[in-house]
Amino acid sequence: MGWVWGEPHPHTQVEECFLVFTISTVGPKGSMKYGFMNHRAPANGRYKPTCYEHAANCYTHAFLIVPAIVGSALLHRLSDDCWEKITAWIYGMGLCALFIVSTVFHIVSWKKSHLRTVEHCFHMCDRMVIYFFIAASYAPWLNLRELGPLASHMRWFIWLMAAGGTIYVFLYHEKYKVVELFFYLTMGFSPALVVTSMNNTDGLHELACGGLIYCLGVVFFKSDGIIPFAHAIWHLFVATAAAVHYYAIWKYLYRSPTDFMRHL
Ligand SMILES: [Zn+2]
Repeated sequence: MGWVWGEPHPHTQVEECFLVFTISTVGPKGSMKYGFMNHRAPANGRYKPTCYEHAANCYTHAFLIVPAIVGSALLHRLSDDCWEKITAWIYGMGLCALFIVSTVFHIVSWKKSHLRTVEHCFHMCDRMVIYFFIAASYAPWLNLRELGPLASHMRWFIWLMAAGGTIYVFLYHEKYKVVELFFYLTMGFSPALVVTSMNNTDGLHELACGGLIYCLGVVFFKSDGIIPFAHAIWHLFVATAAAVHYYAIWKYLYRSPTDFMRHL
């Protein structure tokens, strides 16, 4: 049913955004906090993004779903043997899952926040997929490069860490945020010790560069309510670091020298 004369006008999402924008810029409070950023979350609560921030959170990862699928398919195509193909699948699934799950979670959080259980479930998935994404990002280096007898155990150990992270999310989701961050950083850095000990060091600069971008992004990941659009900026850091790592994997592990010569 449409709007009836005398009743309050039902605002559309765009109108609501415009309303918030107007209040934030020329409204009585005159503060940007009402449009582009909300107040910080309490210690054990979650930050509530404004509608602009919700939109930015969705779009910053949604636009990367198609490139992630195309990139994964390209690696699969460049595979020379079965092991490279399997690794391309594992890495590709991790890459695509990260952007798909993140986008779905942010859409649900924006549009269906009243469905608390559903939103909570997607938030847990959003956190779990990060552990698997880290494992998948290392998989090409661990699977396709020669490793020492001890270092080669990292090939399965990293998946054990991802499973441990998943169990942690199930048991203590959002309870101890510092512990969660510690787990992400531990999982992000411990395989690097193995990778840097490899005889073949090609691509390690790109790997380190990507890692540094992730670390810088964590500053924004922890800045909701301090910096406007902090979470969307974190998404951009994730996207940039993932692109640097993809480039290194494509260049040093999949692209054969003959392909390179052909394109010169
Ligand atoms: Zn996110």
